[in-house]
Amino acid sequence: MGLNKKSVDDINVSGKRVLCRCDFNVPLKDGKITDENRLVAALPTIKKLIADGGKVILCSHLGKVKTEEDKKTKTLAPVAVRLSELLGQEVKFAADLEVVGANARAAVEAMNDGDVILLENTRFRAEETKNGEAFSKDLASLADVFVNDAFGTAHRAHCSNVGVAEELKAEGKPAVVGYLMQKEIDFLGNAVENPVHPFVAILGGAKVADKLNVIDNLLEKCDTLIIGGGMAYTFAKAEGYEVGKSLVDDTKLDYCKEMMAKAEKLGKKILLPIDSATAASFPDPIDAEIKVNNFDIDKMPADEMGLDIGTKSAELFANEVKSAKTVVWNGPMGVFENPTLAAGTLAVAKALADTDATTIIGGGDSAAAVNQMGFGPKMSHISTGGGASLEFLEGKELPGVAAANDK
Ligand code: AMP
Repeated sequence: MGLNKKSVDDINVSGKRVLCRCDFNVPLKDGKITDENRLVAALPTIKKLIADGGKVILCSHLGKVKTEEDKKTKTLAPVAVRLSELLGQEVKFAADLEVVGANARAAVEAMNDGDVILLENTRFRAEETKNGEAFSKDLASLADVFVNDAFGTAHRAHCSNVGVAEELKAEGKPAVVGYLMQKEIDFLGNAVENPVHPFVAILGGAKVADKLNVIDNLLEKCDTLIIGGGMAYTFAKAEGYEVGKSLVDDTKLDYCKEMMAKAEKLGKKILLPIDSATAASFPDPIDAEIKVNNFDIDKMPADEMGLDIGTKSAELFANEVKSAKTVVWNGPMGVFENPTLAAGTLAVAKALADTDATTIIGGGDSAAAVNQMGFGPKMSHISTGGGASLEFLEGKELPGVAAANDK
C-alpha cells in the first residue's frame, strides 16, 4: 500500500516560499535537547527543499503552552541552533511571540533561495490547537507551498498542519507531505494492511481503555496479539485469575471477554502473561529500589501488585517473535522506568532486535525504551509519533495526512 498523497517529489519549490511543518517537539532539560531523533528524522525533507532552491520556513509546536512563563521555557530557539549544526547551514530563528508577527514577516521578506528560517513555537498562539482561522491565515500568508512532515501531530487538526493546508488549497496552492510522513505511513500502513505473515502485534502500557480500538482493529489484521504491561491484568481478571493489587479497569472486563471471543472466532491467538513480576506496592519514586517477586499468573497473592511480565512470559513472547515475519510493538511490558521492572520490556526489545522480521516500533515509551537500550539501529522503523501511530493502528484516517493534496 502506498500513500496516495502528493509529496515533495511532486512539486517544484524553486524560488518559492515553502512552509514546512515539522515535529520538533523534542525533550528539553535546562534548555538542552536530550533526544534529537525527531530533528534527525526531519533532515531529508529539509535538505531536499534547500537543494531545490526553496525559501524554507520551518514551523513546529513544542510541548504544551498554558502560561506566559511557558513562553520563556518552550521557545524553539535551541532547536534552531542544533538544526543549524545538523544541516551545516544557518537556520535563522524568527523570534516572535506572535509566531507570524512583524519579526517573522521581516525575516521571511529577507530570505534568499535555499535559506532556512524557523518560526517560534506554534502553540504560542492559543488558536493553534483549536484550528482557528486567524492563525491559519497568518501562516498561509507566509507561504506559496505547504509541506507537512510532522507525523507526530498528524492525528490532530491544528492550524499549523490542517488549517494552513486548507487555506492554501483554497487559493490553489499545493499542500503535500514530506519524506518522514511518507515513510511513517508506508511502514505502518504496510504492516497493518499488507503484512508479511506471521504478523505479531505486541501491546503494552498502562491502561486497556487507551487501546480499545487498537486491540479491536489489530485482531483483524494480525495472527498473534501479545498483551503485556498494566493492561494485561484486566485481561487476566476477565479470564478469572486473582490479580491482587494490580492495575485493573473493572469497567472493561466484558470488553476483554469480547476480544478473547473475537480472537477465537477469527482463529487468532491472544497471548497473555503466564507469570508476573510483582511487588507489595507501586515504586515511589518510580525508580526507587524495590524488591520484586515472580509469580505464575494462577498463583498471584491478593496483596501483590503485578508490575512487569515475569521471566516465563518474557521467554514465551520472545519465542513468538522468533517465528514472525512482521512485528508491530507499542507500549512497555512493565514499569520500565524502574530498572528492576524493565526486564520484560528489555526482553521484548531484544527479541525484536534479534529477528530478521520487519520490526516497527509505534513511538512513545516503547521507542524511548528501544533507543535507551541501544537497539534503535536494529529496528526496521521506529515511529516518531506515539499518539499518531496508535490512531493509525486503530485504522483511523489522520487529519494531518488527509489535508494534503491527493495524487
Ligand atoms: P502508556 O502511556 O499507556 O504507553 O503506558 C506507559 C506506562 O505504563 C509506563 O509509564 C509504565 O510505567 C506503565 N506500566 C506498565 N506496566 C504497568 C503495570 N503493570 N502497572 C502499572 N503501570 C504500568
